[in-house]
Amino acid sequence: MKQQLIEIAYLVSAIMFIYGMKRLQSPATARKGNQLAAMGMLVAIVATLFFREILTPVEMLAGVVVGGGIGAYLAKRVEMTGMPELVAAFNGFGGIASALVAGAEIARFMAPNAAMTGEAQLDAVGAITISLSIFIGMITFTGSFVAFGKLSGRISGNPVTFPGMRMFTILFMLASIAGMVWMAMESGAFPGIEDPVVQAAIGIAVLGSLLGVLLVIPIGGADMPVVVALLNSYSGLAASATGFVLNNTALIVSGALVGASGLILTNIMCDAMNRSLFNVLIGGFGGDSDSGAPGGGTSTAGLTVNSTSADDVAILLSYANKVIFVPGYGMAVAQAQHAVRELSEELAKKDVEVKFAVHPVAGRMPGHMNVLLAEANVPYDQLFEMDDINGEFETTDVAVVIGANDVVNPAARHDKSSPIFGMPILNVDHASTSIVLKRSMNPGYAGIDNELFYNSNNQMLFGDAKASISDIVNEVKQL
Ligand code: NDP
Repeated sequence: MKQQLIEIAYLVSAIMFIYGMKRLQSPATARKGNQLAAMGMLVAIVATLFFREILTPVEMLAGVVVGGGIGAYLAKRVEMTGMPELVAAFNGFGGIASALVAGAEIARFMAPNAAMTGEAQLDAVGAITISLSIFIGMITFTGSFVAFGKLSGRISGNPVTFPGMRMFTILFMLASIAGMVWMAMESGAFPGIEDPVVQAAIGIAVLGSLLGVLLVIPIGGADMPVVVALLNSYSGLAASATGFVLNNTALIVSGALVGASGLILTNIMCDAMNRSLFNVLIGGFGGDSDSGAPGGGTSTAGLTVNSTSADDVAILLSYANKVIFVPGYGMAVAQAQHAVRELSEELAKKDVEVKFAVHPVAGRMPGHMNVLLAEANVPYDQLFEMDDINGEFETTDVAVVIGANDVVNPAARHDKSSPIFGMPILNVDHASTSIVLKRSMNPGYAGIDNELFYNSNNQMLFGDAKASISDIVNEVKQL
């Protein structure tokens, strides 16, 4: 009876996950969708702990208070710019949790009374699911923390490679597969640490950890969005494998959902970067060329830029028919989204048509700009995906680039030596005038100069984006 109640609770939570995810399709319903999926997870956890009599209701409540408190503190404390790192760290913790649960299953078989309770036998299928869970979990763990380091600037964002790196990667992969086969063949009784199954599990964990590092360190320049999405998918696959280890339907379903949606996101990011998924899966992107070196790309030596003032930009915008805002990572750093929304409202009052163009890899995590603009209550019908708006720049009077750089760099179209060559960009340079808001001539994430800045119809407004936009708003109000 208890088992049936647990299965019913898992079914309810799976339905909540799926409906929750469906609601993530639109920014208008995304918040509710997130809450629904979180409730689904609560239902699954409470059902497991309650019906299996693992914890008393009071202990559960204490867990919810402590865990919820830590979560709320982190969510309040983290800056929007720190969000991508936080997401990478969460992926990593998901991976290590899966590996630890699988490790605990082995320990359960090794427990002194396991033989007496008839639990001392591990079959080949059990051995394979445990080894997969450890392997994928450890790749996700170390890979995510390398991504965390790269996103937070603690590790160089440039590709890190060494001679023979590919060979090591392939060798480690083959050794891991051999370890899994060995573990499956040796599965049976568990006398202790000297057992081949335990040794194979430790070997697989070490190899998985090394592979996680080797798969992420060669990725640099602008290719990180693909990795972030892929690691997200890996964390789901690891959880799903753990679900099979524990024979837990809720974990299998939720892990599979994360794995599949992560893979779809990876595909979207691949399209956005114009990379093939095959190259991503074999870890063969960004690593073998020297193209990610800072300063690579088109030479702009000797060229000059036009700089402008907030007053001039205000006049230009106030008398325009159509303006497109292009947000990028710098808008997140400056926290300028509320000021930008205010500016768009002031322009709308002057009958200026205002739109926002969102590049899929703008910012430092998938959907970064959408989250910021939604937080600032920018109407969803003003947000446009790259493919839907790119044709409109030609009929646009002013394109305002707010802290974006790589996603508007025309070198991506023609400069084969550029690390972003082939990546579709927002056609800001097709607008009659483009204005770029940033603090200096420093490059963006890919570490390359941007020829847009030197175009004769481009003007640079130097300074913190929030301060610049606020100055423009004040001026527009007076016109
Ligand atoms: P970029 O990183 O190319 O450029 C951001 C620009 O913002 C910088 O040039 C910087 O110039 C400017 N900036 C920083 N702080 C401020 C501020 N306070 N006020 C005004 N400007 C500021 O950003 P994009 O969004 O154009 O491109 C995203 C890049 O990140 C791509 O290369 C993408 O591949 C990569 N990436 C994306 C991920 C994703 O999932 N979306 C994940 C990981 C990487 P300055 O210092 O002069 O102010």
